[in-house]
Amino acid sequence: MTEKIFTRNFHLADSHTLKLYRETGGYTALPKAFGMEPAAITEEVKKANLRGLGGAAFPTGVKWGFIPKGSTAPKYLVVNADEGEPGTFKDRYLMERDPHALIEGMVIAARAIGSHRGFVYIRGEYVNPWRVLDGAVKEAYAAGLLGKNIQGSGFDFDIVLHRGAGAYICGEETGLLSSLEGKKGWPKIKPPFPAIKGAFGQPTIVNNVETIMAVPHIINRGAAWFAALGTKSQGGTRLYSVSGHVEKPGVVEAPVSVTLRQLIYDHCGGIRGGRKLKAVVPGGSSAAILTPDEIDIQMDADGPKSKGSMIGSAGVIVMDETVSIPEALMVVARFYAHESCGQCTPCRESTGWIYKMSRRIVEGKGRKEDLDTILDVAKRGAGTTICAFYDGAVGPYISYIEKFRSEFEDLIMLGAHA
Ligand code: SF4
Repeated sequence: MTEKIFTRNFHLADSHTLKLYRETGGYTALPKAFGMEPAAITEEVKKANLRGLGGAAFPTGVKWGFIPKGSTAPKYLVVNADEGEPGTFKDRYLMERDPHALIEGMVIAARAIGSHRGFVYIRGEYVNPWRVLDGAVKEAYAAGLLGKNIQGSGFDFDIVLHRGAGAYICGEETGLLSSLEGKKGWPKIKPPFPAIKGAFGQPTIVNNVETIMAVPHIINRGAAWFAALGTKSQGGTRLYSVSGHVEKPGVVEAPVSVTLRQLIYDHCGGIRGGRKLKAVVPGGSSAAILTPDEIDIQMDADGPKSKGSMIGSAGVIVMDETVSIPEALMVVARFYAHESCGQCTPCRESTGWIYKMSRRIVEGKGRKEDLDTILDVAKRGAGTTICAFYDGAVGPYISYIEKFRSEFEDLIMLGAHA
């Protein structure tokens, strides 16, 4: 039986309340963290092998360590609750069912990096998660768990909830910071990285909801315990959002050593209606697609990478044999064409062009040179843009065509003879 960490209270009706959080051990990591030096908290998180669980899988403690030492500038902690990656729906449950774990994690992380103000940037469509989190923040203030001199520690920390307006690019950390500052949600060139110059020009750490929620457990039960739950490349358990053609779609918590096959067949009941698996996206729509012979991989930071894909947001999208891969590519291409912020020419132009080509293939008007043109355009633009959005879009463009080329060619051929 897998130990549940993030979802341990999900079955309890009042799991979002301060009372229940406290009854189940909540806010006991906080006094421990106040008794530790800030550097020791960061060190513990490093040893726990906690990786960013929003998409980039960057080691969390290492990121915290990038905040300039000894600087008296204000520092900010920003929680990325934008959760816009298609196929990903875990953070909404975490905020609705365990909001105090996020608050406790934020206070501990803030102490580690020397921040006295934190923001939660929450996507505009997440109305209920925002309401629940807002209620929990108010409860925490009333109980002296936020604000001035928290629990007599001498440490001050405030949380501001900031609602986004629903642009995918605001999930990219510098786009998010632009939006938080009241500007258009445009990504910025890195370096400087946010740890040096982030929100309002000050040192800033941006972490995902789930990442921050792991912190109280690490402080309470120790880095060694958390690290041992996972693999060599990553500690802990994590939430996998599994959607598509499985019998039991939903959010699954499992150690990161779980294989993609186990997630699909053991945790989610296998392919619906006894059909065959055709393809699976392991980490949100920006991850390269995998074929059925590529699913015996561990779902940690390195497993999908070994097959040329990525763990990303751990949004697993399962496609059975009835799926048309050219249609799936068209849907993904339409999304990226719509969501490109338009600052970089390769991204702005190529996403629109690739969508048009993928659509005409599906409509039976494809040309035989379209497939090579898409591959050429995708490969040329990769690595030339301000942010990782375009590199993310390139993953599906290339993998869908390279792995299922004959399906695209059949459609083009049929169109030519119609
Ligand atoms: Fe905008 Fe695309 Fe450039 Fe990112 S890569 S900054 S989304 S145009």
